[in-house]
Amino acid sequence: MDLNKLAPAALRAAMKGGTAAWGQIGSASEHVRYSQALPKIKARRRCSCGCGNKATHIGMANGVGLTRGCELSIQRWVKTGSKSATQAAPAAASTKESA
Ligand SMILES: [Zn+2]
Repeated sequence: MDLNKLAPAALRAAMKGGTAAWGQIGSASEHVRYSQALPKIKARRRCSCGCGNKATHIGMANGVGLTRGCELSIQRWVKTGSKSATQAAPAAASTKESA
């Protein structure tokens, strides 16, 4: 594979998680998740998160597209591995670091 052809977000994920089986096997739980904007011509499907918008972004892992949705739902998926707001990250985030 040619690293120069990767989008910046993909490149960052490749640097972090490695490129073994890149583009062949993608796992939301085992690989570094990242998002990519869909070309406008491909963004015609409805997002499934309930926002009513079109699916403009694709959730990727290891060079494989795993899920599609609006920008927000894909951002959430990248962060938590889930597109659903009700299954958000555990309450561990309540321990704030004070500078
Ligand atoms: Zn949505």
